[in-house]
This record gives sequence, structure tokens and C-alpha cells, in this order.
Amino acid sequence: MKSRREFIRLSALATALFSIGKSKAGGLIHEFNGVVTKPVVVSTWQHGLAANREAWKILTSKGQSLDAVEKGVRVAESDPNVRSVGYGGIPDRDGHVTLDACIMDPEGNCGSVAFLENIMNPVSVARLVMEKTPHVMIVGEGALKFALDNGFKKENLLTPESEKDWKEWLKINEYKPVINFENHDTIGMLAIDNSGNISGACTTSGLSFKMHGRVGDSPIIGAGLFVDNEVGGACATGIGEAVIKISGSHTVVEMMRLGKSPEDACKQAIERIISKQKNNKDIQVGFLALNKNGEYGAFSIQKGFNYAVDTNEIRNKLIDSDSHYK
Ligand code: ASP
Repeated sequence: MKSRREFIRLSALATALFSIGKSKAGGLIHEFNGVVTKPVVVSTWQHGLAANREAWKILTSKGQSLDAVEKGVRVAESDPNVRSVGYGGIPDRDGHVTLDACIMDPEGNCGSVAFLENIMNPVSVARLVMEKTPHVMIVGEGALKFALDNGFKKENLLTPESEKDWKEWLKINEYKPVINFENHDTIGMLAIDNSGNISGACTTSGLSFKMHGRVGDSPIIGAGLFVDNEVGGACATGIGEAVIKISGSHTVVEMMRLGKSPEDACKQAIERIISKQKNNKDIQVGFLALNKNGEYGAFSIQKGFNYAVDTNEIRNKLIDSDSHYK
């Protein structure tokens, strides 16, 4: 049972937060019916737990959400045991680890890299694209040159484990790229800091054994990630092709602008994929969203998608997303 004093404190907070139910842009955002104190960080999948811990340190030392999401997802990028992001990521069908990442700040600035090889932390290169160039997206050789010119180190990202898996895959799959539930797991992260500002980041090695040169949704602003600081942010994981076709994360944010809760907004975007994508039984897509009130939610096509949440109330915990197919 909550004490009376605690109840009054939480009610006052809820009233204060409820009053920001209208965005400056004029659209409605979801009516607030819970109590969330800032900061909040959410990120996709189990590897989100370690990433959240790093982000939380920044958020609770008066840091900004942009630093939190960058430093947070770098944990997954640098961990060779996370086989779907950064160093140790599963390679493409030619044995190359090629990375996609993007980042977006509360001002609506964004940066992105795609098809980048030999750089362990592509999210930081994406941030530099945002901060040091007039561009949003740099890819391939150009992105590598930009990273090296800015002091990043060239590294071999193909670990012995990933190389072994690739060689096994070659024997069985005869060089045919496949799409299924299991061959992916991007980290997308959204954070709201103590000043109420939202940033997001998304980084991946993409679909395992993809065609060389294939780029998914993760580095594409509006598909793998979108943030509008007046409304909230969203990120995606799963089969990037399906996410790109509906501009997934942007769709989720626009649903929140129209008044949907984060979970309902994610659900609407998933239902749109279901209605447009005939092979929806064979693919997984998950969306994760965080709104300006600090509320979060997710929805996926298949069971099995989860996300990590860190708030003052819910200390770093993995939550199962609801799904279209039960
Ligand atoms: N969305 C990523 C892609 O299509 C895959 C993933 O979620 O890991 O590249």
C-alpha cells in the first residue's frame, strides 16, 4: 500500500504531467493516466539491459538524452557476444560484417551511416555525421573514410564465432539470403532526460547472411528510428524491408501525435504491415515507443519480442511485448 503522503505526491505529479496532453504542434498526444517520473530509457531485446545501465548512469547524472542513447547502444556494439550488432555481428553472405546505425536528437537533427565496415561503433560515426556535416546519411567507403578521418580505428569485426557460423551457413543455404523470425535483433533505444528531452539511436549488423550491400531499416530516419520531441520517439527491429515499406517509426510517432498510447501506436503500425505484407506469418517486426509523458509501449507481429525498461519506478527490467499472432 502506498502511504497517504506518497499518494498525494504521485497524484500531484500525475496532474502536472496530464496537463502536457497537447503538443505544441497542435496535435493531441495520448491522455496521461499513469505516473512516470523522468528520466526513462527503453531499448529493444535482452541486450537492452546492459545498454540501459550505461544510459541510466548518464541520465541520472543530469546528462542529456542524446549522450545517453549514444553511450547506451555502444555497449551492445562493442560486445562480441551480441551477435546482431557491431563487433561480432553475423556477416553478410560474403563474410563481411556491414553495419547500419542512426541517431536523432530533440531538435530533430539526425545522422546516419550504412553499409559501414571495420568500425566498431557506427552510432558514434552517425552522431558525427549529424554534428559535423551538412548531411544526414553517409554510406560504405565514404562513411569509412569519414570515420577514419575523424580518428576512429579500423578493426576486424568478424569474430571467430561469427566466421564459424557463416561457414556453416554457406554449407546449408547455398548462398541464398533468407528471411525468417530469427536472423536479426537490432538495438533501438529511446530516452527522455530530466529536462524532458527525447533522443533515440538504432544500430545493427542487419539481417544475418544478407546480400552484400543490403541496407535495412535501422539507419533510415523514419523507418528504424524517429523522434519528434513534441510527441515522442519510436524505433523498430525485425525485417527491415517490411518496416521501410510503411515508414514504420515515423508512422508510430504520427499515431501518438493523433492521440494513441505508445502501445496502441505500435499496434497500429504492426497492423498496417499485416494488411500490406502477404508473408506476414513468416516475418517478425517489433516497434517500441516512448512518448513525451515518459510512457512507453511496444507491439510485434510474432510472440517473443521483448524490451528493457529503466525508470525510477521500474528498475532495469525486461518486458514482453504483446503481439499480433499469439
Ligand atoms: N531491422 C534490422 C534490419 O532489417 C534487423 C534487426 O532487427 O536486427 O537490418
